[in-house]
Amino acid sequence: MNVPFVDLKCQYYAIKEEVDNAISSVIEKAAFIGGEFVRDFEEEFAKFCNARHCIGVGNGTDALFVSLLTLGIGRGDEVITAANSFIATSEAITLTGAKVIFCDIDPQTYLIDPGEIEKKITPATKAVIPVHLYGQPADMDPIIKIARRYDLKIIEDAAQAHGALYKGRRVGSLGDLACFSFFPGKNLGAFGDGGAIVCDDNALARRARMIANHGRIDKYDHEIEGINSRLDGLQAAILRVKLKYLPQWSRQRRQNAYNYNELLVDTQLTLPVEKEYNEAVYHLYVVRVVEDIREPLQAYLKDRGITTGIHYPTALPNLSAYKYLNHCESDFPNATMASRQILSLPMFPELSAEQMLYVSDSIKKFF
Ligand SMILES: *Cc1c(COP(=O)(O)O)cnc(C)c1O
Repeated sequence: MNVPFVDLKCQYYAIKEEVDNAISSVIEKAAFIGGEFVRDFEEEFAKFCNARHCIGVGNGTDALFVSLLTLGIGRGDEVITAANSFIATSEAITLTGAKVIFCDIDPQTYLIDPGEIEKKITPATKAVIPVHLYGQPADMDPIIKIARRYDLKIIEDAAQAHGALYKGRRVGSLGDLACFSFFPGKNLGAFGDGGAIVCDDNALARRARMIANHGRIDKYDHEIEGINSRLDGLQAAILRVKLKYLPQWSRQRRQNAYNYNELLVDTQLTLPVEKEYNEAVYHLYVVRVVEDIREPLQAYLKDRGITTGIHYPTALPNLSAYKYLNHCESDFPNATMASRQILSLPMFPELSAEQMLYVSDSIKKFF
């Protein structure tokens, strides 16, 4: 049996006709940049997030970068984010000229530890970027409380968590601005790069839209200098089709996670912890094994046709890219521990019961 890590083709074939028709309409109307498909998707995605505004951008990294610029963050400022994330989160901070301040994670959920945030605050701190990693919302209420006390802005990195719920509230409506990625492998994936910023505030939305489109308010009327980062019409049309199926796909991901939980309960793996106040959308299903076993387990599964991943093999502060910050591994004990022990099992909506049984049997055989 073959169990890929994700299966994008399988998803495409299930909705091929609708997607192909959507692509044709964009081409026939030559609505490549801006236009009705982008406008309609923005409206629908804002509604999906329970937010007033959605601004389509070129990718998730730009969504973060433009959000930070929108809040006026730059040189001399500090922004706090999780030590365990994809580099895009911290990269966007540095791109603005601000300094990245890493914060350790909760060892159970691998999400930013709100109790650690306050220790990192200085007079230069302007914002916090909690990351809803693996599809599970960060514990937002304590973060919102800290942000209020110290007058900090909150940007949600929801690149892996489209549609997840925190205490019944949709991610994307929990901070000042929220950022999404539509990279093909994400829960809502385009056929190329894509991203979005979501927010409630009219002035922030206007500014974000302006920055992402050359700072323009009209064709050749530029209020400020911005960048070129737009969601294109083809991607928007494809995303509109897929958005309709997203709630169903999220349910399937959750079902698959529960199925894995049952199948793997008696193994030596540490299983994912979903907080009782959350409804996670399982972008990834991440287990933990003791350090010296991870590599052989991964190799054993690979031999049996099962592809796994590691998200992420090095905690951000330990990457060579951040050598200049002079951190040591003991500064972020939980993120460092996680990076050495975590393993992501195959996870996608269409994963079959047989495939999951095969994965769990293989893991048991290994042990
Ligand atoms: C994918 C991802 C991003 C960046 O999105 P791109 O569209 O690839 O630029 C940012 N943050 C997290 C947590 C991600 O997983």
